[in-house]
Amino acid sequence: MAEPLVTVEDLVFEYPSKRALFGVGVTVPRGSITALVGPNGAGKTTLIRCLAGLHEPFSGRIKIGGIDVHDHPRQIHKRLGYLADFFGLYEDLSVARCLTYAAWVQGCAPEETDDLVRSAAERLDIADRLGEKAGALSRGLKQRLAIAQSIIHKPEFLILDEPASGLDPDARFRLSNLLVRLKDEGMTLLVSSHILSELEDYATGLIVIRDGRVVSQGLMRDVGGQTANDGERLALTLTEPDPRLENLLAGRDGVSAIHVENRTARCRITGGEAARHALLKSLLDAGLAVVDFRVEEDRLRDAYMATAEPIPEDPNTGGDESS
Ligand code: ATP
Repeated sequence: MAEPLVTVEDLVFEYPSKRALFGVGVTVPRGSITALVGPNGAGKTTLIRCLAGLHEPFSGRIKIGGIDVHDHPRQIHKRLGYLADFFGLYEDLSVARCLTYAAWVQGCAPEETDDLVRSAAERLDIADRLGEKAGALSRGLKQRLAIAQSIIHKPEFLILDEPASGLDPDARFRLSNLLVRLKDEGMTLLVSSHILSELEDYATGLIVIRDGRVVSQGLMRDVGGQTANDGERLALTLTEPDPRLENLLAGRDGVSAIHVENRTARCRITGGEAARHALLKSLLDAGLAVVDFRVEEDRLRDAYMATAEPIPEDPNTGGDESS
C-alpha cells in the first residue's frame, strides 16, 4: 500500500450526550481516492470533521503529512480542502467573488487569484456563471461552486462529504472525471458518499464505518475496483495455478490492473466482447485450463454489504452509546 498521507489512531469522539466514534483507526494512502461509506448515523461526518480539525476528539491522534491536526490546525487548513455535507455560500456575492474570497481566505497570492478563480470555475463548468449571484444558482450549481471553492488553493488533501448530492447525471459524470484528474495531478482525496456505483468508478480505496467503528478498510483492487475508463472487471479461474497466467494477461493490449492470486486472476479489460473473446481464445490456445471467465459487477456493493454483520458489543461501554 502507498505511504499514508493521513493516519488516524484510536480516535474517540463524543457529542455531549453521545459517543460517535469508538477508537477509530484508519489510513489514507497518498495519491488515492478513498471512499468513506457507511449507513446514516455511522459517524462519517464526525470523522471528517475531526480530520478537518473542526471537532476536537476526546482522545486519539490524527496526522496529515506527519503534522498533528490538533496541535497545528492552521498548517493543516492550508493543505486541506473541505466540502461539508451542508455548506453555506455568501449568497449575495457573485460566483467570481465567492471564489476570490475563498482564494484569499486560503492565503493564495493576490496576483494568482484571477487565474485560480478561472481555473476552478472551468473545472466545475461554472465559468459562464462568474457574474451571477451565488444565491441565484440552482442547487446543483451551488454544489459545483462549493466544490470549486474547496479546490481553489490546490490542496494536498481534499475531503468531500457527499459531493454528488444535488448534481444532475451529467454533472455527476463530470465530477467523477474531475476527481480522477485531481488524483492524477497528485491530490489525495477522501470522499464520503452513499452512491456506491459512482464510488466504484473512481475510488482506489475503501473505508467502511458502522456504528462509529471501522469495519473494513482496503484497496479497491482487492474488491475489484479501478476506474470505469479502464474497461470492465474480469475474473477468471483455472483448474490449478499456472505461472504463465500473469504474463499472458500482461502481454495483451487493453488489459490492466492485473491481480493474480492462486488460480484466480482479476483484471480490467477494454474492447468489449470482441476483446474478451480474443483473450479467452488466447488463454485456451496457450493450454491454460480456464474453468470460469466472467465480467464482475457491483463488487463495491458486495464488499460493503459483506460488512453488514452485527458489530460485537464493546465490553468497555456495554454497547451504551451514551457513555
Ligand atoms: P449520514 O450518512 O446520515 O450523514 P454520518 O455517518 O455522517 O451520517 P454523523 O453525522 O457523523 O453520521 O453522526 C454520527 C452519530 O452522531 C449519529 O448517531 C448522530 O445522531 C450523532 N450526532 C451527530 N451530530 C450530533 C450532535 N451535534 N449532537 C449529538 N449527536 C450527534
